[in-house]
Amino acid sequence: MATHRLYYDDSFEKEFTAKVLACDPALILPSPEAKAPAWEVVLDRTAFYPTSGGQPHDIGKLGDANVFDVRDDGDEVVHLVDQPLEPGGVQGCIHWPRRFDHMQQHTGQHLLSAMFLERFGLPTVSFHLGNEICTIDLRGPEPTELMLEGAERAANQVIFEDRPVAVRYGTADQLSQLGVRKEVEREGILRAIEIEAADLQPCGGTHVKRTGQIGTLLVRRCAKVRQDWRVEFFCGGRAERSARHDFLQLRQAAEKLSCAPDEVLSAAARALSERDANFKSLRAMLERLAKVEATLTLQATSFGPQGIRIIARVFEGVPAEYLTFFAAEITKSEKTVAVLAGTDEGNLHFAQHPSAGKDMSALLKQVLEKLGGKGGGTRDFARGKLANPTSAQQALDAAKSLV
Ligand SMILES: [Zn+2]
Repeated sequence: MATHRLYYDDSFEKEFTAKVLACDPALILPSPEAKAPAWEVVLDRTAFYPTSGGQPHDIGKLGDANVFDVRDDGDEVVHLVDQPLEPGGVQGCIHWPRRFDHMQQHTGQHLLSAMFLERFGLPTVSFHLGNEICTIDLRGPEPTELMLEGAERAANQVIFEDRPVAVRYGTADQLSQLGVRKEVEREGILRAIEIEAADLQPCGGTHVKRTGQIGTLLVRRCAKVRQDWRVEFFCGGRAERSARHDFLQLRQAAEKLSCAPDEVLSAAARALSERDANFKSLRAMLERLAKVEATLTLQATSFGPQGIRIIARVFEGVPAEYLTFFAAEITKSEKTVAVLAGTDEGNLHFAQHPSAGKDMSALLKQVLEKLGGKGGGTRDFARGKLANPTSAQQALDAAKSLV
């Protein structure tokens, strides 16, 4: 027997009485939050909205049982509950804050889609009402910032005018004479939602009674998804919460940057350019320091019995490029080899003046084979990274004995 859907004619009905027609153990639990065991309940009439047309289902109570999912099964509405119900009369109650939020988002969607179509010729091809974000997908050319703002402003204008939102019934022909926005192929009497002088759309969902109840509408960003343009938006309570959240973020960013909220952008730009300038000057200082340290090290290190001078150094607390600067300076001297390691990340730099006649690439390979890690290079310069940074000293001892 078809369930009589109370929300079709009064979407503000929160409590109702109904007759339990069937209550069977649930075999399929469609939603992830569903907890077994569960029962499927069919009533003669219901105010519970089942998931459909982009709008999620209601939750609430049937007697003492919690309703945690509602779905369409042909003409019937099936309620999933956490305890069995006796046949006979039952009191139903839907969780109103969730439903009203859905009605605000859903009615706002009708309005926003109508504005995109009417003003910019962009039809909506799908709608999603998520736990956090609502989206519509628009088909056509990319909506510009001006279009997004224009549609938002036009929708809010209709909201401020507090126009009636009415339910209309008629055949597909009758509705199309009234100017319905979407072609429908279904036979029989159809249900459509009319926002006065703004939109007429076939829809089986739940909506507010006047546009003022949408509260306000905020368009967020727009991104390309496959061939369409996905527009994020919020209505009513969600718009209020998101605006509050955004302002809080802005205020915290301003506090971090020690400026007023409307100076965040320029303060952030200033901080970034300061950071870049500091980075450049730090790099120049590192290079100068590495040169001085390399010169001192060369002066303090004598040539070995084969006429080769080996500089082996483990560095702590310096970035990898310090090793590069240091090695570059060392290997300007003839017959000199530098085997360097950094303990912070386990970097290895092996370099030589060509006159030293060794093979740095082969040397690095031998050391890495022994201690683990990866890297490579040329005869005169090779760079690698140890698998374990604490084996830096060991790596240099190995390299020194192999040179
Ligand atoms: Zn609708």
